[in-house]
Amino acid sequence: MKKIENFIGGEFSPPVSGEYFENFNPATGAPYSQVPDSDERDVHIAVEAAEKAFPSWSESSLSKREGILIQIANGIRDKSEELAHAESVDNGKPLTLARSVDIPRAAENFRFFASAMTHFHSESHAMGSEAINYTLREPVGVVGCISPWNLPLYLFSWKVAPAIAAGNCVVAKPSELTPMTAYLFSHICKEAGLPPGVLNIVHGYGRKAGAAISSHARIRAVSFTGGTATGAEIARTSAPMFKKLSLELGGKNASVIFADCDYEKALKGTLQSSFANQGQICLCGSRIFVERSLYTKFRDDLVAEAKKLSVGDPLQEDVQQGAVISALHKKKILDCVERAKGEGGKILCGGSEAIVNGRCQGGNFVYPTVIEGLEYDSITNREEIFGPVVSIMPFDQEDEVVNYANSTDYGLASMIWTKDLSRAHRLAATMKTGIVWINSWMLRDLRTPFGGMKHSGVGREGGVEVLRFFTEPKNVCVTM
Ligand code: NAD
Repeated sequence: MKKIENFIGGEFSPPVSGEYFENFNPATGAPYSQVPDSDERDVHIAVEAAEKAFPSWSESSLSKREGILIQIANGIRDKSEELAHAESVDNGKPLTLARSVDIPRAAENFRFFASAMTHFHSESHAMGSEAINYTLREPVGVVGCISPWNLPLYLFSWKVAPAIAAGNCVVAKPSELTPMTAYLFSHICKEAGLPPGVLNIVHGYGRKAGAAISSHARIRAVSFTGGTATGAEIARTSAPMFKKLSLELGGKNASVIFADCDYEKALKGTLQSSFANQGQICLCGSRIFVERSLYTKFRDDLVAEAKKLSVGDPLQEDVQQGAVISALHKKKILDCVERAKGEGGKILCGGSEAIVNGRCQGGNFVYPTVIEGLEYDSITNREEIFGPVVSIMPFDQEDEVVNYANSTDYGLASMIWTKDLSRAHRLAATMKTGIVWINSWMLRDLRTPFGGMKHSGVGREGGVEVLRFFTEPKNVCVTM
C-alpha cells in the first residue's frame, strides 16, 4: 500500500506520531494507501519551516515567484494523466471529469496567479499639497490553507497558488479523504524549484492536524473551504486570535427556470448543475424551480436525462457518474432521501444505492435522484445534501420564486435561465448569493470574486480579492 508522506521544509517525512490511517478508494470500498496521522507537533514543525523560508521568499522578486509558479503549472500539465488517474481513484469521480476539469484547472490556478501577482497594485491618496498616502501590500506571513475532498487538487491549488504568489509561506492540509494528488503535487513543487519551507503539506484528520493549523498562534491567516459547521468551529478558534479568515462553506443553490428560456441549454445546464461530480460540488443546483407552464415538460425531460446518466466504474471512459466519497456519505445521502419521503417528497428517479458489478461491487454509488412535491421550505430544501439529489418545484410569479430561492440560510450561487434580459438582471440583483449565473453554470473567470453570502462563507477568493486577503495593507502618510 502506498504510503503518503508529509512535505515539510522541502523534505518528505513521516508524522511525528509514526501513525498512519487507511485511505479508501470510494469506487471499490478497499483501502489503497496510508495517510500520515499528523498532529500539532507536525504542524508546529511546518510552521517553523515556513517561518524560516519567509524572509527570503517574501522579499524575492515578483519575476522569481512568477517563474516558479509557472514551473509548477508546467509540472502539473506534464503529469496531468497521472494526476487525473490519482484524483479519480482517490475521490471516485469519473476519470474523464478529473482529466477535463480538475487537473487542467489546478495548472491554470498556478498559471493565473503567477501572472495576477505581477499585475497586482495598491492605491495612493493625495491630500492636495499637504501630503500623500500610499498603501503597501505586504504578505501576511505564515498562512494556513485547509481544503475539502470534492475537488481535491483544484481547490487546494486555488488557495496555495495566490498565497505563495503574494509572498506568504504556507502550512496546508488537504482533506484526509483525498490526500493523494496533494502528495503527488508536493513532488512537483520540489522539482519546480520551490524553495524549502515555502509550502508545507501536513496530512491528517481535520480535528487533529486541521485544528492545529487554525489554533497555531503563529499562523496569521486561515483560508478554509469545507462544510459550514467546520467553518464555524474554525472561526470560534481563530477569531479570538485575530487571524484573518476566509471561509468558503456550503451551499443550497437554486436553479430558476422561466418558460421563455433557451430550452435545450437550460435542460442540459440543469442536468450538469444537478449531477456533475455526483452532485458533490458546492455550486451544484440542488433546488430547481420551474415556471408552471413549462414545469411538466421540463420535469419529465430532466428525469429522462437523469435516468440515462451512466453510473459505474469511474475509470471507464463512458461513465458519467462515479462513486460518492465514502460509505458514510452514501448513507447520509440515502438518509436524506428517506427524510424527503417523510416530508411528502415523491421520488421520480433514483433514490437508492446503485449496484455496480465487478471491480466496483464494494463501492459507494447512488443513482441520480429527482424528488418532487416538497415544500420550498422543507428541511430537504433547506439543508445541504451534497450528493446526486435534487428537488424540483413549480412556481407562478417572479416575486414568489425570488422568495423561494432566497429562503435558505445559504447564499453561494444561483442560476437563472431566461431569454428576457431585463428580468435576468432584475433577478440577479435580488438574489442573496455571491455568484449568479445567467443562462450558464460553472462558467468561471478566475479574475472574478468567488464566494458566498450568509452561511456560505465570509470573504471572497479569486483575482484581486484573494491577493488582498493574502496581504496586509499598510498606509504610509508622507507630508510634502
Ligand atoms: P469538511 O468541513 O468536513 O472538511 C474540510 C476540511 O477541513 C478537511 O481538510 C478537513 O480535514 C478539515 N477539518 C475538519 N474539521 C476541522 C477542524 N475542526 N479544524 C480545522 N480543519 C478541519 O468538509 P468536506 O466534507 O471535506 O467538504 C464538503 C463541504 O465543503 C460541503 O459543505 C461543501 O459545500 C463545501 N465546499 C464549499 C466550497 C466553496 O467554495 N464554498 C467548495 C467546495 C466544497
